[in-house]
Amino acid sequence: MSLLTVGSVAFDAIETPFGKTDKIIGGAGTYIAIASSYFANKQNIVSVVGDDFPKEMLEKLEKRGVNLEGLQIKKGEKTFFWSGKYHNDMNSRDTLVTELNVLGDFDPIIPSSYQGAEYVMLGNLSPQVQSTVIERLTEKPKLIAMDTMNFWMDIAMEDLKKTLKMVDVLIINDEEARQLSGEYSLVKAARVIREMGPKYLIIKKGEHGALLFHGTNVFFAPALPLEEVFDPTGAGDTFAGGFMGYIASTDDYSFENMKRAIIAGSALASFCVEKFGTEKLESITKKEIETRIDQFVRLTDFDMVETVG
Ligand code: AMP
Repeated sequence: MSLLTVGSVAFDAIETPFGKTDKIIGGAGTYIAIASSYFANKQNIVSVVGDDFPKEMLEKLEKRGVNLEGLQIKKGEKTFFWSGKYHNDMNSRDTLVTELNVLGDFDPIIPSSYQGAEYVMLGNLSPQVQSTVIERLTEKPKLIAMDTMNFWMDIAMEDLKKTLKMVDVLIINDEEARQLSGEYSLVKAARVIREMGPKYLIIKKGEHGALLFHGTNVFFAPALPLEEVFDPTGAGDTFAGGFMGYIASTDDYSFENMKRAIIAGSALASFCVEKFGTEKLESITKKEIETRIDQFVRLTDFDMVETVG
């Protein structure tokens, strides 16, 4: 199996009702790569940073089996910067700053050693960059998944529609699904969105879990009820990384295995929110992941007795 991850590697500044950070390391590609490394012990990343990005973090990624040959380091340029502030309910946030910097004119170059990727996870980036990556792959992958956000729906809807035709799985949140489809009902939204291209659609509902749609099948996975949510940044990317890492490591993209992959992604996302940034995500043990996956299984496990006479 081979996994190709594409996504932003960034600096973030985050404000939640519990505290505030200065510039810390973030980026969708960073969260995806760390999360998927718990399942897929080798992966290739395509991204870009400025020469202000700390070498230590790149070394940490390499130690996790992330091949950085496709990570461009632009001399004299600045890394992408994003800043966000969460509301009291922690479910919604405002973007305060988006400084594209090196992402502004990002040309995703695919090293020849990356060709033949079987699984591709396209993190939230401009849909034009996402489609360029797909066009530059010389062999058709087994499964391409992508994330996107309302930012791109507002400014690049036509590019986004073109990219949607090229992918198999779309992973978005409920608000984005409603905006993309123009439908309030998520069931109707799922139908409309799958007509746009992706055969599989995952709609994330934050603390209310996630839905997977394919054909006439629907699967629902809860989120683990947590006592404290400290910082939700990157939870969506962590979910996507865990999902694709699991699919790639098992080399099985059947609907049944996607259900397991959703639980794997949800379990990792539940760790991500416990501390600011990638801190918690970087230090989970195998045992902790297994215990949490077990909690998920028990959360929805019950025996039905016959009540209808
Ligand atoms: P999430 O909380 O899963 O939506 O992801 C948050 C991460 O996405 C942050 O670490 C940001 O650096 C990154 N991000 C935010 N906006 C963008 C954007 N327009 N393009 C690429 N990455 C972004």
